[in-house]
Amino acid sequence: MKPIKDMLLKMREELVRDIARRSKATAVSGVSDIGDILDSVSEERTRELDMILTDREKQKLKQIDDALDRIEEGTYGLCEECGIKIPRARLRVVPFAKYCVECKEVIEREEKYTREEPEEAVKKVPMAEAEE
Ligand SMILES: [Zn+2]
Repeated sequence: MKPIKDMLLKMREELVRDIARRSKATAVSGVSDIGDILDSVSEERTRELDMILTDREKQKLKQIDDALDRIEEGTYGLCEECGIKIPRARLRVVPFAKYCVECKEVIEREEKYTREEPEEAVKKVPMAEAEE
């Protein structure tokens, strides 16, 4: 499990570095060291993060942290949906994968609908019917 943990920590580090670079470029006021902020868990710091991070970055950071949590808990590598072992090969490509490929595809399809359809359209076309 160690190599995967290392991978996750490295991904987190790179993500933090990217954010730090950008936050410098956009000169977010009052933010000196994003690395410190990301390592901290205080509420005040979390609010600062909310202002700096894009949704995508927040999501990725959360995925990485979740995976690290699961390693600690010993539930890492099991699909959260159906409980089967996620193939090692998949974890090497997507170390923060929560689901097996089958469940992931179902979830992504659902997310795609939620994301792409305007709220009104979703109401008019229920997901089951949109599938045809
Ligand atoms: Zn599954």
